[in-house]
Amino acid sequence: MTTVQSPPAPPTAIRPGVVARTGLYAVLAAHAAVVAFFFVQAGFASNALIVIGRLAGLYGALVMAFQLVLVARLPWLDRRIGMDRLTSWHRWTGFSLLWTLLAHVVFIGFGYADGAGVGPVTEIIDLAETTEGVLRAIVALGLMLVIGAVSARSARRRLAYETWHFIHLYAYVAVVLAFTHQVAVGTTFTSSSAATAYWYGVWAVALGSVFLGRVALPLWRNRRHRFRVAAVVPESDSVVSIHITGRDLDRLPAQAGQFFLWRFLTKDRWWQANPFSLSAAPDGRSLRLTAKAAGEGSAALRHLKVGTRVFAEGPYGAFTTLHRTRSESLLIAGGVGVTPIRALLEELDGHTVVIYRVASERDAVLHDELRDLAFAKGAELHLVTGKPTPDKLAPRKLKRMVPDIADRDVFLCGPPPMMNAVLGTLDELHVPKQQIHFERFSLAG
Ligand SMILES: Cc1cc2nc3c(=O)[nH]c(=O)nc-3n(C[C@H](O)[C@H](O)[C@H](O)COP(=O)(O)OP(=O)(O)OC[C@H]3O[C@@H](n4cnc5c(N)ncnc54)[C@H](O)[C@@H]3O)c2cc1C
Repeated sequence: MTTVQSPPAPPTAIRPGVVARTGLYAVLAAHAAVVAFFFVQAGFASNALIVIGRLAGLYGALVMAFQLVLVARLPWLDRRIGMDRLTSWHRWTGFSLLWTLLAHVVFIGFGYADGAGVGPVTEIIDLAETTEGVLRAIVALGLMLVIGAVSARSARRRLAYETWHFIHLYAYVAVVLAFTHQVAVGTTFTSSSAATAYWYGVWAVALGSVFLGRVALPLWRNRRHRFRVAAVVPESDSVVSIHITGRDLDRLPAQAGQFFLWRFLTKDRWWQANPFSLSAAPDGRSLRLTAKAAGEGSAALRHLKVGTRVFAEGPYGAFTTLHRTRSESLLIAGGVGVTPIRALLEELDGHTVVIYRVASERDAVLHDELRDLAFAKGAELHLVTGKPTPDKLAPRKLKRMVPDIADRDVFLCGPPPMMNAVLGTLDELHVPKQQIHFERFSLAG
């Protein structure tokens, strides 16, 4: 297999993740300032409670647009920040959005009730009955509350991914209702043509990003590449590799360490898309994923027929050599977390140490490939077997295996308990945070 050798970033370069993060928050801060400017320019013709309520509504709408950009799956952001982090920010800004919208309703309710001499609830009902757009906003808020409730960790754990995702799609209905509410009752963005153009521009960019990243790009890529299953290779009783071919795969901008959302277009499973990392560096002719049977979807992969059409969304993820800061690396894999590690080993240059942690040698899928690759590249490979206890990779042991660990980039992927233990160990061994790169096999945390 041919691989792309990517040299590490020079030590003085600003890290790509920092550029993207700073850029994203600078853009948000700039928009917050512009909104405040237009708000003040429009003037305040009401009491303080209503003024605060309106400002909360405007900032709620701005956060809503930002929320859309975070999950738009824009390749530039995704490669630099990673879908896991972007999803996690979306989740946390989502909860602050709920509080902002609730503040909007409460302040507006009390503000208008103050002048009318009725209670805030009566006032809100009255506004819903008499003012165009208010009822739509109440429905939007109700939808957002339901989405917030099913996204809380305890509820999220109980729901199948697809159920949760389906409910989450109602957020788009809420966004449309909220936007039409702003158009109907908002005064800030109707006060001047510049303000109106700005507000439509913000929403066009936010909704356009979602359309581009989630609809147009995946459709275009799949039409162009026409992915198909080329081979199904069992690696063990519970793990299977799927080889995928397609047209012009050399034009697909995928890197070792990234993943796709794979949808195999069979009669009974076409509706389910699951994330799996590439388990070999893309060589321009084929792609490979290696999946452990975790539930019904992954277990069914073993029975796929050669020639099955595949709809793949991606490539996604920031677990790549783009984020290297050092010339030497340490790769740590636990169990099926070996998949992106195996691909990264192929792509990395500079001296590399690989540690592969499994319960027993029988569980070490792709081990032969790792050994051959390590031999060909002059890398060191350690297979660590035994019961899943943290002491196998305790600080002393890790330091003995890799004495210069603090001078290497560390790429880590494995089951959550092992990853948490290793992250603690890396901290104890004073490995700088910017040198630690990891991929969790879960996106919804
Ligand atoms: C970035 C990433 C890379 C991964 N790479 C690999 C890999 O290389 N090899 C491997 O064996 N496993 C990998 N996984 C785990 C794999 O995705 C799950 O084991 C698989 O989706 C389980 O699906 P299922 O239908 O068999 O089980 P189910 O019981 O139906 O699903 C189990 C759980 O999988 C998760 N899941 C399913 N679909 C999605 C989705 N579309 N998006 C996010 N989460 C979803 C949900 O948390 C779901 O509850 C990866 C996961 C992620 C997030």
